[in-house]
Amino acid sequence: MTNSQRKPLIAGNWKMNNTSADAVALVEEIKIEIGHCTDVTALVCPPCTSLESVARVIEDSNIQLGAQNMHHEPNGAYTGEISAGMLRHLFCAYVILGHSERRAYFSESDTFINKKVLAALENNLKPVFCVGESLDERENGKTSEVVESQVREGLASVVAEHSENLVVAYEPVWAIGTGLTATPEMAQEVHAGIRRILEDLVGSSGAARVRILYGGSMKPDNASDLLAQPDIDGGLIGGASLEARSFVKLVEIALAS
Ligand code: PEP
Repeated sequence: MTNSQRKPLIAGNWKMNNTSADAVALVEEIKIEIGHCTDVTALVCPPCTSLESVARVIEDSNIQLGAQNMHHEPNGAYTGEISAGMLRHLFCAYVILGHSERRAYFSESDTFINKKVLAALENNLKPVFCVGESLDERENGKTSEVVESQVREGLASVVAEHSENLVVAYEPVWAIGTGLTATPEMAQEVHAGIRRILEDLVGSSGAARVRILYGGSMKPDNASDLLAQPDIDGGLIGGASLEARSFVKLVEIALAS
């Protein structure tokens, strides 16, 4: 399977931004422009308070809905948490897991993230599983070691049948929200390394099905070169996804690449 056989995915991580009304206004603008796009998966991940209202806006479109986090248990005494089943009932198809902000501010470990990845897959939710090195780790030549251990631990027990539904996002922590971006060559090298680890975990045809996104200050003016790389199958977009015009432009660039 080649790059052209993996449908590009442009995912907007809205983080802790937008009230429900703001979220509806933003997704309505996006829908007018790319609501019927079929050759690129356009995914929006609003805060959980807006999932239901955004789902109503996009129900007659091809725009996909995702959450930014979930708990691995199906229900119970986990105050403040949301389960995979609850997300499915809100029409979510995707869930971002292991984002570096969850790892840094909420001490999420690889083992904990792995439980969530498995729970998502068991509930037919597509995990957007995030990995990436810190600046210190990159400067000390530890990027491939760090990313490999995050991938192996976070995807433990994932099997070939899951590959179609699995998305990995490589997000160098030093590039998130900083305006700094990995060069296309730097990103491609890590993406190719991730695909080699996936081959070991789920076999070569499984690995060829997994979409690997780049995330970290991706914007319309740097996206083309990143998306042209053979193992970069889309983007996980923070800041630039909060503005309809730039998110739409990123989807259009992915369509053309
Ligand atoms: C992110 O948080 O996943 C992200 C990539 O953010 P930004 O695009 O703002 O760097």
